[in-house]
Amino acid sequence: MNVLDSEKVAGLLVNAGWTLTAAPDSADLVLYNTCSVREKAACRVYAHLGQMRGLKRRRPEMLLGVMGCVAQQEGEEMIRQVDGLNLVVGTRRWHLIPQHLDRLLDGEAAAIVDVEMDAEPVPVEVDNVLRANPFRAFVTIMEGCDNYCAYCVVPHVRGRERSRPAAAILGEIRNLTARGVVEVMLLGQNVNSYRDPSPRGLTFAGLLDEIAGLPDLRRLRFTTSHPKDFDRDVLDVMLARPTICRQLHLPAQSGSSAVLQAMNRKYTRAEYLAKVDMIRAAPEEFSLSSDFIVGFPGESAADFEETLSLLEYVGFDSIFSFMYSPRPNTAAAGWADTIPVTEKRERLMTLQALQERIQRATNRREIGREHRVLVDGRGREPDQLASRTDTNKIVHFHGPSNLIGCFVDVRITGASSHTLQAERIDHRS
Ligand code: SAH
Ligand code: SF4
Repeated sequence: MNVLDSEKVAGLLVNAGWTLTAAPDSADLVLYNTCSVREKAACRVYAHLGQMRGLKRRRPEMLLGVMGCVAQQEGEEMIRQVDGLNLVVGTRRWHLIPQHLDRLLDGEAAAIVDVEMDAEPVPVEVDNVLRANPFRAFVTIMEGCDNYCAYCVVPHVRGRERSRPAAAILGEIRNLTARGVVEVMLLGQNVNSYRDPSPRGLTFAGLLDEIAGLPDLRRLRFTTSHPKDFDRDVLDVMLARPTICRQLHLPAQSGSSAVLQAMNRKYTRAEYLAKVDMIRAAPEEFSLSSDFIVGFPGESAADFEETLSLLEYVGFDSIFSFMYSPRPNTAAAGWADTIPVTEKRERLMTLQALQERIQRATNRREIGREHRVLVDGRGREPDQLASRTDTNKIVHFHGPSNLIGCFVDVRITGASSHTLQAERIDHRS
């Protein structure tokens, strides 16, 4: 989501006459996009901005700005804390960055803070997103979140849920495929609560079905599905539409119903596992991934064991896992952060070691199977290409660079916990 936000702002800036440079030393503007979902990421922003101090002293005319969730959260405070900071723009105001820069360049102000949250009731449409990848694109379908999980800063810094009209989403994807994009990833904090604001009122399942029916799109992915909202209707559309990748990201967060309740996730362990069983019972194999938080306030050793057993039961293809960190304005921020950091670290390591073992076994089952992969770019070794399966597994194989952006048929020959090795069995398609 942050990558896409940066691409949107870069597009707006290029459209307004700016050009991109890879060298901050000679830049007229350095703009940081920021994430505040965990404390560490938020702290890092201040460290990065601090590193700009020398540059700013040498070239005071250079403009320095911050956008994204940390900007939204901190507002004016950032101007007070960071010497030479000129611009702080919140999550609902980034489309105004070119105008704010004009005002700064005209000398109308030395610093501008714009963190207004209520101004734009619908997601802003951007025509000129500057996408780095010519064949794969992210597309926003909804913004914000109404779920208020007890640990999560997102609803506070990104505001209430707002969906884009289906016609605008379909139009954007049609334009992308006309320019050679073959894979689209739909983005939203909770894509399953998508509701078309136009009179057609499409649900997420309806939207998925229409997008998957676009003639030139070869692969469609989406993230994130809140487990409480993922249902049969979406699974049925996925099964009926081969364009939709056999991959689901269903963040569990914990395997303990008591912790899930405290987290305000609105599902129990049993309900989560029932959704997994529904997916596993489908006539095709789906790859499942998830997010986990360890050390949430009150998480006992027994609760943590339940998370481990959930991991064993499901056998996820990959997970993201984090130590809990209290975030401003969230419900859990007021509760005692009861688990010492050493214990959190220990639990995280235990969880990740178990997942490594599971992944090694899951990936080993792939040996001998054939996949059609989309080639992403070069691998680390000479002549090696990095690609992804429909199920989002990373596959390395040897081949020439002109296959980048193409679909290639491969047979898996080797597996480690994070990547698969393969050989080509066909030419590009
Ligand atoms: N909308 C998505 C994810 C948003 S944030 C969802 O509902 O799953 C991405 C992940 O960051 C979350 O799934 C969660 O695992 C993690 N996360 C969010 N807040 C956190 C916090 N305060 N401490 C640690 N991890 C957190
Ligand atoms: Fe955060 Fe929960 Fe919303 Fe995901 S669903 S963004 S974790 S509040």
